[in-house]
Amino acid sequence: MDTVSARTHLEEHRAKIIAQMEELGASESGDLRSDLDREESFADAAAATADRTQLLGLVDSLHKQLQSVDHALQRVDEDTYGICSECGQAIAPARLEARPEATLCVDCASTR
Ligand SMILES: [Zn+2]
Repeated sequence: MDTVSARTHLEEHRAKIIAQMEELGASESGDLRSDLDREESFADAAAATADRTQLLGLVDSLHKQLQSVDHALQRVDEDTYGICSECGQAIAPARLEARPEATLCVDCASTR
């Protein structure tokens, strides 16, 4: 994958993650918007807590993905994108297609 399409791919991925976070009521930094708390105070407390825990889990995993994408974008700038950060081998294009934020090849990722 060349640098320009890698960057485009990553930026599209980034926009999708941010859109998902916004849908969940979270900001780009992974914080939940406060207007959501007010709505929840009217809901059943136990259910709200369970929902909130699940929601926080989702937001947290999206936030981690976002950080990985930012990391990958940084690697595009440094011209090391698509190179496994563990063993230095090229990461398979199909893997980058599926997970553009991947910084490890399949072998290294599976041994972690
Ligand atoms: Zn590797």
